[in-house]
Amino acid sequence: MLIDYYRTGDLNTWDQYNILWAQDTSFVDYVNGFIEVYGDPLGRKATWESVVNFRNEEATRRTKIISQNAQWFEDHSPIDPRFKKQKVKGVSAKVITVAQLGGDCYPATPIGINLPNADWIRKEHGSKSVTMENITYAYDQASLGSGFLEEFCYSSAEVEMAKKYGPLADNLHTDLHECLGHGSGQLLPGVNSEALKNYQSALEEARADLFALYYLMDPKMIELGLIPNFDVAKTEYNAYIRNGLMTQLTRIEPGKNIEQAHMRNRQLIAIWCYQKGLPNNVIEKKVKDGKTYVIINDYEHLRTLFGELLAEIQRIKSEGDYTAGKELVENYGVKVDPSLHKEVIERYKKLNLAPYGGFVNPLMKPLYENGQLVDVEIFYPDDYVEQMLYYSKNYSFLPPYN
Ligand SMILES: [Zn+2]
Repeated sequence: MLIDYYRTGDLNTWDQYNILWAQDTSFVDYVNGFIEVYGDPLGRKATWESVVNFRNEEATRRTKIISQNAQWFEDHSPIDPRFKKQKVKGVSAKVITVAQLGGDCYPATPIGINLPNADWIRKEHGSKSVTMENITYAYDQASLGSGFLEEFCYSSAEVEMAKKYGPLADNLHTDLHECLGHGSGQLLPGVNSEALKNYQSALEEARADLFALYYLMDPKMIELGLIPNFDVAKTEYNAYIRNGLMTQLTRIEPGKNIEQAHMRNRQLIAIWCYQKGLPNNVIEKKVKDGKTYVIINDYEHLRTLFGELLAEIQRIKSEGDYTAGKELVENYGVKVDPSLHKEVIERYKKLNLAPYGGFVNPLMKPLYENGQLVDVEIFYPDDYVEQMLYYSKNYSFLPPYN
């Protein structure tokens, strides 16, 4: 069906393919197509991507617990009952090991994927949600000795917490975001799923993030055995707010605003909560030795703010309220504070780190005996440029002009 779609470009075939794909729960799986529109400010033109992967059975038990309780999470979500799904449809969630990345997922990758994107397919046929654990593991390992936490955390206690609970907190956030967040809620009858136009991506990511943030500190998480204590949630709150208010600015060039959907969403959430929490000093900016830090004084209160913003963004989506969505994104998600931006870039520069991490694909060679595939040999090249040139030489099927 996918090949059919590539041959014809027929979007109905693409839909039919996605319905089949959503129902396929094979051990080895893939993503392949023109899928995400994050890079297009109009949210229309998709980039091509592919991820070949297999299931991590051990870690998948965690996401199974979450998806088995999907209805409970939906019922207890802090949104207007009119916007809740009466019956949450088959969210199949798994943790995967990525074996090969392609297109827009290479060399910098997502850490979780929930597809198909079409709301009506998700509602009628369900969706597949994955957490890419060998990728997050590699990111975590790479960040441990980088000095990044020591530079941007206010206290050594915060650094310790991040080192102890960071990986679990990150993975759970991704699980909840992908496996429940995107699949939660519903549109009111008659509302066009594209009503939010160019703000759709950022608002949708904010909705899924808020769903995850809100539930990370819910007693249900302990009851289900997903976290040992709320320090896991606090670790994620620290990291999320620190990133949204400050550290993600390392990825923006001086003088530029935020364009990328995920980055808009993260700043939107962080600044909105910072401002709404000001009367109660929920989040505080502190300056020590000329360096700015963000600390959270009241985690419970912050959780309430996450819930309030989730309710509002769900309302915007369910009602297709373009104007309110636009105001949220433009007022909180786009503009950066130039002096803080400058400070963050300078501090980051001293650490000598790249703002994005990327991956070199393993090289897989099939081994045949008497025409039968018997094994696959794996090599680990470590030169990105060489790999790109190799791909260009061996897989460049299209002429430069066509
Ligand atoms: Zn997402």
